[in-house]
Amino acid sequence: MGLSPTEKRIRENLKENLSKLVNEVDLVAEIDDLLETFIGDKKWDEHVVELMEKVVLKPFKNLRIALLVVDFQNDFVSGSLSIKEGDAEEDPIEALPHVNNLLQNMTWNMIVYTQDWHPSNHISFFEHSRNPDRELAPEDKSRKLRPFDIVRFIKPVSTVQVLYPSHCIQGGWGSQLHSELHRIESAQYIKKGNDVYVDAYSAFSDNCGIKQSELEILLRKNDINAVIGCGLAYDICVMHTLKDASKRGFLTSIVRTGSKGLSSLKMDEANEMFQKRGVAIIDDEMARNISTRQAYPIEWIRLLIHQAQIELHGKK
Ligand SMILES: [Zn+2]
Repeated sequence: MGLSPTEKRIRENLKENLSKLVNEVDLVAEIDDLLETFIGDKKWDEHVVELMEKVVLKPFKNLRIALLVVDFQNDFVSGSLSIKEGDAEEDPIEALPHVNNLLQNMTWNMIVYTQDWHPSNHISFFEHSRNPDRELAPEDKSRKLRPFDIVRFIKPVSTVQVLYPSHCIQGGWGSQLHSELHRIESAQYIKKGNDVYVDAYSAFSDNCGIKQSELEILLRKNDINAVIGCGLAYDICVMHTLKDASKRGFLTSIVRTGSKGLSSLKMDEANEMFQKRGVAIIDDEMARNISTRQAYPIEWIRLLIHQAQIELHGKK
């Protein structure tokens, strides 16, 4: 069944507005497909226009972006938990110019540096796994443990934990941000993992999902609705932080060149999760386009159109 002239005009208008957002001729065909799926058996009418305005276009008109620089700390660069020792064979030093480029040459509404910030007897520390104040599950208690083993603690808090070499001890050299990392004066700092018995990979919340940091409040207070992440490690703290950002409804991207990971398997898993959640994996050029509001990742458009689609048709 063909569209009436009015319907056709509405559809063309939306297509044009959405194409401007991605600003890439190669993606126009995909936008066409997205619109087809979105409308399904409904009609292109004023209600649809309002819905698209509200859910898809408005977030870009009011876009306020935070750059999160995750855990760019000495221990992860060249200290006790150096990422270059991982099987992914990635060197954080190579990410540094890209991160500094994001910090020095692009403008963001807010900049946040996060830091892993552990007490000296932290639950994630291999060297302290048999301290008397904590108890391993019987199957782990009775075996020889190695760094990077996954264990279960039953006391004082029941958690599954990867054992790492001691790292990022509060106030020590290892916990300091790398000296060549460019610092923005007005930036905010979030410290995580300060609880002795519960680790925190995400800068939003601890690994049990119970204690929230002040990050979300800080972002909301500044009307931030998009988050660009980079830093260390790609497959652990960056991944968990950005997963949480997307779960909380922020449009989310990871700058691939500004992030280095430990395990190639875990990085693949992270990429799969990013794809599923509409977290765009971007390069420096796309980061610049976003910061200057010239173009946005197709992943963000897909995600928002999908949300509008759910609103239009009710739950899938
Ligand atoms: Zn840690």
